[in-house]
Amino acid sequence: AGSASTSSIRQVKLDRESELRIEVGNDSPLRLRLLSGNAEIFGTELPPEIWLTLPPRLKIAVFTWYGATLEMDGATETDYTADETPMIGYVNVHAILEARRSRARASSSDDSGSTQGPRVIVVGPTDSGKSTLSRMLLSWAAKQGWKPTFVDLDIGQGSITIPGCIAATPIELPIDPVEGIPLEMPLVYFYGHTTPSNNVDLYKVLVKELAQVLERQFTGNAESRAAGMVINTMGWIEGVGYELLLHAIDTLNANVVLVLGQEKLWSMLKDVLKNKPNVDVVKLQKSGGVVSRNAKFRQKARSYRIREYFYGPANDLSPHSNIANFSDLFIYRIGGGPQAPRSALPIGAEPAADPTRLVPVNINRDLLHLVLAVSFAKEPEEIMSSNVAGFVYITDIDIQRKKITYLAPSAGELPGKYLIVGTLTWIET
Ligand code: ADP
Repeated sequence: AGSASTSSIRQVKLDRESELRIEVGNDSPLRLRLLSGNAEIFGTELPPEIWLTLPPRLKIAVFTWYGATLEMDGATETDYTADETPMIGYVNVHAILEARRSRARASSSDDSGSTQGPRVIVVGPTDSGKSTLSRMLLSWAAKQGWKPTFVDLDIGQGSITIPGCIAATPIELPIDPVEGIPLEMPLVYFYGHTTPSNNVDLYKVLVKELAQVLERQFTGNAESRAAGMVINTMGWIEGVGYELLLHAIDTLNANVVLVLGQEKLWSMLKDVLKNKPNVDVVKLQKSGGVVSRNAKFRQKARSYRIREYFYGPANDLSPHSNIANFSDLFIYRIGGGPQAPRSALPIGAEPAADPTRLVPVNINRDLLHLVLAVSFAKEPEEIMSSNVAGFVYITDIDIQRKKITYLAPSAGELPGKYLIVGTLTWIET
């Protein structure tokens, strides 16, 4: 397939409004540069003449509005040019959002509705290009000087932080195609699982917490309020997944719903939201360049994402292995856990099935290879509503000595003493 065996430098000429779609091979990076013209990767312009190193497995498109010449050095899994893209439709959406941002900024009214910029939510099945479109809209906005807030509700992959979380962060610069989103204090909530069915109620509670914090931040910051949000969602759009989409639209007060690649979902959302006149439901074409990823690939991508958290995108961080006493750490699970059998309860009482119940966890070897979050909570009661500082990975449990060994981004004391555990595992490779 493609030009897998080539490894010398090749030139590619792109006509206006076309793109070069690249899948970097599994084993070696690809070097790429812009020789002439203008080109962008998912909304972020390429600097002229400077070689970029694209890491293995990256799948991207280099798009040009007016034509460009590129140079590639190295082998790829696939690369081809395409002149049919949905980019005109996407940039038209961007233009409409821009106009709304400007209107929000110019509004002098006290009415909070008119100073609120667009809150865009991107929905669609898995592999419809949701994360990519979110990224483009954010980068285009940032290029024009806005600082839109990126909200990532996709617990399956995670563009801001590791999988199993929902998170938000302001985007101040176009997103680097290689480095991704800079991790300057994102607002992160730990759900702890990679599918919402593990604990639907907890997912909803966390989305609500995140929404409340963002609402508070917007109140005090007219600039980010006018810039608005771009919300990326999960590819789970049937049944409970659909219910969770509606919940997110409602909770985050989204006013633009962009539906990618599914007529049925568009028509369902249009129908259910028709009595909300300030919410626009827009259907957009899915790009033919979006690469489908099977369950195994997705699992691998999750694992790389966790690796990246500890070791950095270019293997440029050195995490630290720490040892603690069992008694130093307080680990909790939210929901689940063994429920009291009916026979153990007073007559008439129902077993507590509260999905948001906090359950203390005994340290044992079941924790091995799990990724835990370090909560900012000061008291156990605050754990549910607290965001998290970061993550640790359990590498050894010594029952005899009552010692626990974990990997953390750095040495020294953890930023909190309460840890949250879910079902998020990682096998270091
Ligand atoms: P979703 O968020 O809907 O699951 P993504 O936006 O993550 O889908 O896209 C899936 C994969 O396809 C990603 O690896 C992304 O980089 C890649 N991709 C998206 N658009 C293109 C394109 N036009 N050309 C090449 N690869 C693309």
